[in-house]
Amino acid sequence: MKTLFLAATAFLSLTAMQAPQPAKADSKVSLWRLDCGTFTIKDYNAFFSDTLAYKPGPKEITDSCYLIRNGGRYLLWDTGIGAEMQGKTTDAGFAIMKLNKTIVQQLGEIGVKPEQVEIVGISHFHSDHIGQAAAFPKATLLIGADDYAALSAKPANPQLEPARLKPWIEDGGKARSVSGDHDVFGDGKVVMLNLPGHTPGHHALLVRLASGPVLLTGDLYHFTEQVAHKGVPPFNTNRADTLASMDRFDKMAKNIGAKVVIQHEPADIAKLPAFPATAE
Ligand SMILES: [Zn+2]
Repeated sequence: MKTLFLAATAFLSLTAMQAPQPAKADSKVSLWRLDCGTFTIKDYNAFFSDTLAYKPGPKEITDSCYLIRNGGRYLLWDTGIGAEMQGKTTDAGFAIMKLNKTIVQQLGEIGVKPEQVEIVGISHFHSDHIGQAAAFPKATLLIGADDYAALSAKPANPQLEPARLKPWIEDGGKARSVSGDHDVFGDGKVVMLNLPGHTPGHHALLVRLASGPVLLTGDLYHFTEQVAHKGVPPFNTNRADTLASMDRFDKMAKNIGAKVVIQHEPADIAKLPAFPATAE
């Protein structure tokens, strides 16, 4: 029964595919970093290392989303924690969470309306990445196939928050399950990279700016110290896949000379111009 359902889902996601509209080869690519929340992890050693590699104690991490414009087309990469947390302090058990401004408010500051966001790309199914996706119901959703299958499974997995993707799972929005790497605009400038392990369908994002390539990690890494330790959080879905994904990502970053931006690392905010300025 489960196999049948998965096969049906795969068929639907294939039939829902749209012919890619290539961006102009000479189109300019711009990248904005958006603030999508902050967390204080209560015990980051226990939370983030399955070999207890770090000193016990709290750790501050950030939550980043990114707006990418390729020619006149907009992609939002990750959607942070839920807008309902704005202006509050929320105790989520493992962490204290805060949200200063919503994505829609930040887009408003640069004159971008939610309807202009053509594509919402999601690195993986965790709630701190799908939180505000439903504010863009007309956008095409791009997400790893295994993550979308987990989110849209019936009965719903109580550990996930599929209601955050209701416009696509329930209301017929355009969703595209991504298997392997995916060239978002069909011109090689923005590519979702298949890097499973944190979740089964986890992806990072390669953005080729005129100034050089940038790699947005998704949650392959959460903070700088993890890179040297090759630390694997206990909640990752597959340890071996995580290590293989780290190996691929590190080699690619070196080979193409990419600027690596760890999405949850507060120190990496300064690697990109401060909002509303763009990297180009
Ligand atoms: Zn995360």
